Amino acid sequence: MNHQTSRRPIRSAHKILRDYGIDDPDQIDLNAICFDKGILVIEAPLKGALARLIRNGKDKALIRVSDRVREVGQRRFAIAHEFGHFMLHQEKNQLSLYHQKELLFWYKELSPEEQEANTFAVELLMPNFLFESRCSSESPTVATIEKLSTEFETSLTATTLRYLDFTRHDCAAIVSRDGKMTWFKTCETFPLRLLDMGTMVDPDSLAGQLFAGDLSPGGPQQVPVEMWVEDQEFSQSFTIQEDAVYLKRYQTVISLISIQPASPLNRFLTNRAVSAAW
Ligand SMILES: [Zn+2]
Repeated sequence: MNHQTSRRPIRSAHKILRDYGIDDPDQIDLNAICFDKGILVIEAPLKGALARLIRNGKDKALIRVSDRVREVGQRRFAIAHEFGHFMLHQEKNQLSLYHQKELLFWYKELSPEEQEANTFAVELLMPNFLFESRCSSESPTVATIEKLSTEFETSLTATTLRYLDFTRHDCAAIVSRDGKMTWFKTCETFPLRLLDMGTMVDPDSLAGQLFAGDLSPGGPQQVPVEMWVEDQEFSQSFTIQEDAVYLKRYQTVISLISIQPASPLNRFLTNRAVSAAW
C-alpha cells in the first residue's frame, strides 16, 4: 500500500482512540465504540459472507458478523474492517466481506477501499502507539506473538504481521498450507531471499514436523539455512532460527524465521550499520 492511501485510515482510527482516551489495549471495546458511533453489531447467520455493513441513513448502520467466525481475533478484525468502511466510505451503502484473504491487510490485490478498511482495522486494534513499545525488542518467537495476541485480542496471523512492522530483529513470517510455502512477509530490513513460494516445506523444519502431526516442537530452534533461504552462498556465515505454530482450523503453519543474534551475518550487518552511521 502506498504511503498516501494509508494516512487517512490511520488518522481516522487514531482520532477515535484519542476521543475515547484509550491508552491500554483492554480499553479497545469494539462493540461499545461502534454502538456509540451509531452502529449496532450483531452476530447472525450470514449467507456467503463473513461480515456485512448495512447503512441506515448517514449516521447509523448495522454490522452483521457471520456466526461462522468463531475466533475472537477474527471477529474483531471483521467488525473493525466494516467499521472502517463506515467511517471512510460514506458513499457505499452496503458492503460485504466475502473472503478470508480480505481480512489480510498485506494482501496486495485488494482494492484501495479494502486496503483502507484493513489499515483502519489494524490501527484501531493494534495502534502503533500501544503496539510498538510492547514488541520492538521482544524476540521473534511464537510465545511473543501469543502474548501480544492475547493482550490485543487479535488473531495470531494479524498479530504476526503487525509484529513485523515494528520488530528490531531481522525476521520473516512464512505461512505454509498443506505442506507448501504459500506466502510470506518480512520486516523491512530482512536481508535474505527466501525460497520460492510453492516450495514444499522441509520435513525436518518445525513447520514440517507440525504438518506431520508433532504438535509440540517446543519453542524456537536453530535450523539449517537451506530449509528456508535461497541465498546459499551465505549459508556458512550465519544461522537462522525457526519457531512455528500450527493453526489447525486452517491447516496452516506460521513459521517465524530470524537471523540469530550471535551469527556472523548479524555481526556483519551490525558493523555495516555502525560504519554507515559514521
Ligand atoms: Zn471490505
